[in-house]
Amino acid sequence: MRFPPRSAAGDRPCPPAVTRILAIANQKGGVGKTTTAVNLAASLAVAEQRVLLVDADPQGNATSGIGLSKDRVELTTYDVLIGECSAADAIVRGVQFPHLDVVPATPDLAGAEIELVGAANREHRMRAALAPLRGQYSYILIDCPPSLGLITINMLSAADSLLIPLQCEYYALEGISQLLNTVHVVQQSLNAALGIEGVLLTMYDARLNLSRQVAGDAREYFGEQVFKASIPRNVRLAEAPSFGKPIILYDLQSPGAQAYLDVARELLARDAARGDAPATAGARA
Ligand code: ATP
Ligand code: MG
Repeated sequence: MRFPPRSAAGDRPCPPAVTRILAIANQKGGVGKTTTAVNLAASLAVAEQRVLLVDADPQGNATSGIGLSKDRVELTTYDVLIGECSAADAIVRGVQFPHLDVVPATPDLAGAEIELVGAANREHRMRAALAPLRGQYSYILIDCPPSLGLITINMLSAADSLLIPLQCEYYALEGISQLLNTVHVVQQSLNAALGIEGVLLTMYDARLNLSRQVAGDAREYFGEQVFKASIPRNVRLAEAPSFGKPIILYDLQSPGAQAYLDVARELLARDAARGDAPATAGARA
């Protein structure tokens, strides 16, 4: 009898045929990028998708939010961008879930923004670093910092698509044209294949006219690109990072947890419909 090939981790399923690299970006601060990166990564991981969460923000909020101590991590996204180590070397494996790996970040990463300025291939560092990991994960989710600097450009160059969290507040759409301009520049010069994965409405409060208005404007502007699921304003989502837990471990029944599971389900369905669904079994968010 022939057994199926085993991965390096032994008990993991066969590698997926397709890896999707999603940059979660919006240069506006505090719109839910990190909350989305951590909780979508966790939701996909419980659906037995092999997920790598890359923290690309010197604030390191995704690192601590998923439960890693910034004081204890050794190699980080900084070392990867600077060329000190490979992305594989910087991976912390099996964080909270067997299927979830993390490349952490610490405040050191802020230095990369300056150190890379004169470096060769400075915009392509992350793309080159992640290339060997294609095929090992179903999804690589990158939590970007709130800026359009060199770190974000590196992440957009590395990504297949961009997921934009949009906070349902006044001024939400301001800055979006600047983000889309940056996407356009990246498409023209660095990564022609970069697409828009979707726009995710965050901190939505159905009782507020303002939330409904922003959601309406976004759906008018982006059409089908807006995820059907939106993320409600939910205090449990804000509490979970202080326990170093994704929401599905902190309060599975909360509306926030259910909403991120819905987003994961929608993403998997979209990818399946496009025919590039990651090939791991059990897409049951
Ligand atoms: P930054 O630009 O600083 O990286 P960000 O875009 O990553 O911020 P988050 O850190 O995810 O944004 O969220 C900003 C704050 O809002 C955090 O305190 C977070 O816990 C809280 N928050 C995020 N989403 C929600 C939500 N749906 N309901 C309630 N609070 C939320
Ligand atoms: Mg953040």
